[in-house]
Amino acid sequence: MADIPLPPGFTVQKLAEVQRAFESALGADQVFFTPLDRASYNDKFWVDPVGHNPSGAIAPESVEQVQAAIKIANQYKIPLWPISRGKNLGYGGSAPVLSGTVVMDLSRMKKIEFDPETGTAVVEPGVSFYDLYDYLKANNLPYWISTPGNSWGSVMGNALDRGVGYTPYGEHTKRINGLEVVLPTGELVRTGMGAFTGAPTWQAYPFGFGPGWDQMFVQSNFGVVTKMGMWLMPEPESLMGMDVEFDRPEDLKAMIDTIGPLRREGVLQQSPSIGNWLRAAAVLTTRDEWTDKPGALGEDVIDAIRKRFNIGWWGVSLRLYGRESVNKASYRILEDAMKSINPMLIKPTSWVRGEPIEHTGWTGTPITFPMQNVNWYGGRGGHVGFSPILKQDGDAALAQFKRTYARYQEWGMDYQGSFAFGERHLTNVNAMIFNHDDPEMMAKVDPFFRQLVADAKEHGYGEYRTHLDYMDLVAATYDFNNHALWRLNQTVKDALDPNGILAPGKSGIWPSGMGPRTDA
Ligand SMILES: Cc1cc2nc3c(=O)[nH]c(=O)nc-3n(C[C@H](O)[C@H](O)[C@H](O)COP(=O)(O)OP(=O)(O)OC[C@H]3O[C@@H](n4cnc5c(N)ncnc54)[C@H](O)[C@@H]3O)c2cc1C
Repeated sequence: MADIPLPPGFTVQKLAEVQRAFESALGADQVFFTPLDRASYNDKFWVDPVGHNPSGAIAPESVEQVQAAIKIANQYKIPLWPISRGKNLGYGGSAPVLSGTVVMDLSRMKKIEFDPETGTAVVEPGVSFYDLYDYLKANNLPYWISTPGNSWGSVMGNALDRGVGYTPYGEHTKRINGLEVVLPTGELVRTGMGAFTGAPTWQAYPFGFGPGWDQMFVQSNFGVVTKMGMWLMPEPESLMGMDVEFDRPEDLKAMIDTIGPLRREGVLQQSPSIGNWLRAAAVLTTRDEWTDKPGALGEDVIDAIRKRFNIGWWGVSLRLYGRESVNKASYRILEDAMKSINPMLIKPTSWVRGEPIEHTGWTGTPITFPMQNVNWYGGRGGHVGFSPILKQDGDAALAQFKRTYARYQEWGMDYQGSFAFGERHLTNVNAMIFNHDDPEMMAKVDPFFRQLVADAKEHGYGEYRTHLDYMDLVAATYDFNNHALWRLNQTVKDALDPNGILAPGKSGIWPSGMGPRTDA
């Protein structure tokens, strides 16, 4: 009993009382407080094995049950951590920031509504990428979804954490249109046109009247989202593009300076992601096939791996979506642009509606094989992502890459990096792969990560998303006017959640009197 993680101010007896209250409100089969349950909801990719242990979990099946659980949480002042499917691997999985928090698992809420005329959907939290994909196929609906590299999770959960995919609808949070939310007081609200009872336009116009609140519930702890409206991409007539490989680390600059203008101009409408050789190789092989030496891999080993799989130091997939005649014209522009910067290899791809299709993220097919990368070192693998936002500028990106790469060498870790284009920015995702069974390696992860955040801060770059362990650290880097944003977040938190019961610490947002003062 002694090892049960308890929230501040709780005893084992008081937690047992809370458990009974949840059981009588939801039913015993929706309440999970055994040691195995706690382990199941922990972070499988932990950096600190005891930092974020939940005390248990509950699985409400309806809005009314969410409200009933919120009522109990307010009564006992027990914190709840809502997850949709809880597959946020690399950022904390299903675990909460604060140990002892009860996970609110919403994966049983799985309704999908779809309007085929406007191509808009309303999904509940438990709807996975596979569910939505199957739904479209089963109902023969000519729309595509956009999926993340690990599509095991929830359409809603991913969008609420600003997840990304690889079609023109790949910035998922931008495709949110209208939310239904249970506030920490238990009140149910709908945003945008949803606030207008019975409006048939809820998913058609995101703003409604007055302030638009959709983004307020993204990466925040201001409410439990129970429905999310979203736009889906009409199935294109044609898909064309190319996979392009480049030979040298320095080629990153020309790649960014060539692809960036095409993205901004709209020739390219998806968000290409430039990845290094390890992003490709880590799903094809394991490190022990190549060397048994610790420390970052030398160029000789990197060259041998690249040669075996015929991959560049960097690779990028570019795709065009839409009418075939337009794609054919755009393809020539892309091809000329890529040829002008000396690629190692260009592999064209082309599809027209009716033909067999590639099952990849570029076609919005749910995939999970990228998770193979955590087997790179052997043992029980995992990774965390260090992901600063950069300008779409080749020199700046190359400089950030060189700094980061030098740090990977210094800390003796193998570099897996990517630069994903938004419309105007780059998201520089660096996966820090590790092996939980290597204590020496695990001891490095935390100081190494903090070093990268400090380096980025020095050059003016902030992260777009981060693991539970680093939410306070990253929130503290957003420090304009002595952390005015942090104070604004806390003011809103206190107003909406007077008992501080909802996900304390998410994105560095704490109720008054809890957590570190980021502005101290
Ligand atoms: C190999 C690999 C590749 C990956 N590739 C990608 C990628 O390409 N793109 C990408 O975006 N991610 C990627 N990920 C990260 C992650 O696996 C996905 O983003 C995944 O979709 C997140 O899990 P989920 O959808 O189940 O969200 P959840 O874990 O359910 O939710 C994420 C967070 O959002 C909040 N939240 C969720 N639901 C609610 C709610 N209803 N109300 C209020 N708050 C809520 C919570 O804070 C929660 O912790 C990858 C991970 C791995 C291991």
